[in-house]
This record gives sequence, C-alpha cells and structure tokens, in this order.
Amino acid sequence: MRKNITMCKYIKSNYKNINIEIIDIDEYSCTYKCLICGAIKTNTLNSMRRQLKETSNLHTEACSKYFNDIIKCELNEKQLNQFRAFYRYAKERCCNPNSKDYIRYKDKFKFNDYTEYVNSCYNLYKKAYDIYGENNLSVDRIDNSKGYEKDNIRFVPMSINAENKEKIYPVMAVNIITKEIIESKSLTRLANEYFDGKHTSLYQSIEQNRLYLNTWKIFYTIET
Ligand SMILES: [Zn+2]
Repeated sequence: MRKNITMCKYIKSNYKNINIEIIDIDEYSCTYKCLICGAIKTNTLNSMRRQLKETSNLHTEACSKYFNDIIKCELNEKQLNQFRAFYRYAKERCCNPNSKDYIRYKDKFKFNDYTEYVNSCYNLYKKAYDIYGENNLSVDRIDNSKGYEKDNIRFVPMSINAENKEKIYPVMAVNIITKEIIESKSLTRLANEYFDGKHTSLYQSIEQNRLYLNTWKIFYTIET
C-alpha cells in the first residue's frame, strides 16, 4: 500500500464536503461512514482519490455490499436474494417500459437507490421474516394509490397481498378454450364461487402473468 500524505490532509479538512464521517485514518487508508446511506467502509487513500475524481462523494456500490453482508449474516443468503429481488422486480415494473405492468406502475418507484430501500425497508422485512418465516413472502404497497416509497411498503405472504389488492380491483376470468367469461367483484369471491377457494393460486397466476390450470386467463379490471 502506498502512502498518500496529501490525501490524508485533504480528507481530514474536507470530510464534511465529501459527506463522510471519519472513524479512523492514517497515511495509507481511512475507515469512514458514508453519510448518504450510513455504510461503514475502509478504503485506501489512493482509491478514495480515484473515486473523488469521478464523483463528489464516496457513496458507491460498496455501500450496497456493506448492507448485503449484514443481511446475509443476520438472516441468510436466500433471504438476502429474496429481499434484493423485491427491489429489482418493483423497479422493473415501474421503470422499464417493456415490463408488462409498466402502464399501471409507471412513476411509482420513489427510492433513489438500493441503499435507501435497505434503510427504509430492511427492518420491516426482518420482522416479517420472524413472523411468517419462509412462507412465500411478497412485497406490497400499503396504500395502492401511492408508490414504492418509504412508509408505504410491507412484506406479507401472497395471500394477504392479494386481499389488499382485491379491495380495489374487480376481476375477470377468461377460459381461452371455451371462451367462457366470468366476472367477479373480487379475487376471493371468484375463487370461492368458481375455483375451490384457491385464491392464492389465482393471484399468483396474475402476478406471474401465466394461465391458471393452463386454461384461465385471470386479470384485474376496473370498477365500472
Ligand atoms: Zn453510501
């Protein structure tokens, strides 16, 4: 590792401008807290200098890694992957015009980046995991008129997620073989009256955009 006395002085006098709090520093490296997200990292002074040439702060991909390591340690790798996947799916739905759900979700993604999602949602996820275990969790917006944002996220089993949705959306089932059409005021009612009460399976077929029993196309409609 190479000494960098100039950089050491620079960081000591400019740490506020580059949004960090110094925990420990010598002429080789620095341990600091990123004040944008709260991650704690150790970098060589030379790598900090390189980063600061590109952007005005030290909030980088390594910040996400800091949080992911904690999550993996507190829960496990499978849960970490699920928690990250919820972020990716939500972002995909809201920000990718090619996503099948884009029209319904456009402009509903309000997190600046993954670390903001972690800071506002990880404790909720951990609690949900304590309560429901591996039980098929899903990410849900508490108020469906609002977006994926702080204080509007919860993690619940699919079945509860579906209940929340159905308060808002009536539903339609089309048999693609016989062309039979069933309309219903809610997913639960449709399930109870026509599909042996299997409302979680129906809900999953909607979420995953696939046919139910290879026959039924189920989708939410609009109150008329
Ligand atoms: Zn950061």
